[in-house]
Amino acid sequence: MINAEATNKMNKTLRLILGDQLNSNHSWFSKTEDSVTYVMMEIRTETDYVQHHVQKVVGIFAAMRSFAAELKSNGHQLIYLQLNDENNFQSFEKNIQNLIETHPFTHFEYQLPDEFRVDETLKALCHSISITSSAVVSEHFYTNRNELGDFFQGKKMFLMENFYRAMRKKNGVLMEGDQPLTGQWNYDSDNRKKLPKDHKPTKPLVFDNNVSNILEEINKTNIKTIGIIDAENFVWPINRAQSLELLDFFATNCLPLFGSYQDAMMPNEWSLYHSRISFSMNIKLISPKEVIDRVIEEWKHRPNEIEFHQLEGFVRQIIGWREYMRGIYWNKMPDYAALNFFNNQADLPSWYWTGKTKMNCLKDAINQSLNYGYAHHIQRLMITGNFALLAGVHPNAIDAWYLGIYMDAFEWVEITNTRGMSQFADGGIVGTKPYVSSASYIDKMSHYCGSCFYKKNIKTGDKACPFNSLYWNFYDKNESKLASNPRIGMMYNVWRKMKNEDKTALLEQADYYLNNINEL
Ligand SMILES: Cc1cc2nc3c(=O)[nH]c(=O)nc-3n(C[C@H](O)[C@H](O)[C@H](O)COP(=O)(O)OP(=O)(O)OC[C@H]3O[C@@H](n4cnc5c(N)ncnc54)[C@H](O)[C@@H]3O)c2cc1C
Ligand code: SF4
Repeated sequence: MINAEATNKMNKTLRLILGDQLNSNHSWFSKTEDSVTYVMMEIRTETDYVQHHVQKVVGIFAAMRSFAAELKSNGHQLIYLQLNDENNFQSFEKNIQNLIETHPFTHFEYQLPDEFRVDETLKALCHSISITSSAVVSEHFYTNRNELGDFFQGKKMFLMENFYRAMRKKNGVLMEGDQPLTGQWNYDSDNRKKLPKDHKPTKPLVFDNNVSNILEEINKTNIKTIGIIDAENFVWPINRAQSLELLDFFATNCLPLFGSYQDAMMPNEWSLYHSRISFSMNIKLISPKEVIDRVIEEWKHRPNEIEFHQLEGFVRQIIGWREYMRGIYWNKMPDYAALNFFNNQADLPSWYWTGKTKMNCLKDAINQSLNYGYAHHIQRLMITGNFALLAGVHPNAIDAWYLGIYMDAFEWVEITNTRGMSQFADGGIVGTKPYVSSASYIDKMSHYCGSCFYKKNIKTGDKACPFNSLYWNFYDKNESKLASNPRIGMMYNVWRKMKNEDKTALLEQADYYLNNINEL
């Protein structure tokens, strides 16, 4: 006969919740169970694998603590290891091993992580522990890890647009039968407007969370961070209620102009009509489906105020790009993290860490990143990313910067965007051509150039905008790798037709800038 104590011992499960798995709608939490104990931990392996923005570390810990408090108040058993706790051994492996040794757990369970690094760690841990283990899905994404790989099986090109359409069909999002509602899939061409010069964008919704105690604890350690923080008025959402409030604010106030101005940039305006929902979504405080459902609901209520292209532009980012990037990540890792198509080797210019450059566009994009841990997509792609690629910076250095500096940076979505879309280091898996430009694109989409030390129309000399000569230098240097690309061939025709002395002057100017890059 088995007595009660023995039964208890037989069925004690330890469940790990990662800092980016704060999904209160996960089926794990649908009921409380005496046999289940959850564990959450603030550990140095996670704070130190890259140099993070201080707001990112603080924001994640604050959200974890708030989530833990909610679990406890709902009656769940939870062990929470704070950063400076004595019994915190600062890694998943050591803490889990210790808990298994000191408690009568018989089974270990975790949700599949989004990061390859953590996935490997947990798989290895499960092999090394003396109790049984299992993993469940995180119940967050529209797709599973292998879905994109299966979708593109046997195909050479992984075209996002094809994947996006299949996602719309599969999930019945903005569809009429198997046709797109309105008859058109993609409204990209309507979504490239520059903001009028005197336009005053909607004031962003920010929170005023007091996170001073967490900052103090971080300051007691020697965790190296980037950027600044106002810990008494922390602007980011740190729980589900605030995340839903931010989503609501976006749907009500920003969605009507989101698509039109999604590529636009304006000095000292860090948020414009963007949702800033990526932090909440990436740590799973809210799900992509909740976000999509909310914006569609808003559009249905206000069809005369919210044009369809504003909505479609937003839906595509989430159901398309976000799921696509995750699928690429799981299909291509770990090799993806070592790709360097152009064999770029340069260091990241020092001012990426300080914002101290005379280039207005870079100064603005970097300073707002240091101030808020945020820049919107086109700032990341066409300002900081564009310059880094033109300067031939090693993708490892660029990845480390992007993975550290942004609130929403987690490797599955950071590396595919950075190494893939922005740096073309994957040779064309994510993008069909490198995203590089001279000053003309930046001027077309922003109000940066007018007040810049450099002159957008000048190509050589002291005041020449560095983007101009570096742009042609990029094409010249990489001709053997790019000239056969049908989307680029035209640029080589222009380059070849240029007078030799003009070409030489441009390349000399680029050389000068590259040799003095920290002074720009
Ligand atoms: C070099 C580079 C690095 C990036 N690194 C990250 C990163 O670490 N984490 C991250 O979440 N996004 C990253 N992105 C994608 C995109 O820039 C951010 O998702 C977006 O800026 C987040 O701000 P938002 O919530 O205001 O987005 P919005 O403009 O309001 O868009 C809505 C949502 O769409 C999704 N989305 C939009 N574009 C993309 C994209 N290209 N890939 C995946 N999802 C997308 C995001 O979840 C975003 O919250 C990166 C882009 C580039 C070019
Ligand atoms: S002139 Fe050149 S460096 Fe200055 S803001 Fe314009 S693109 Fe940027």
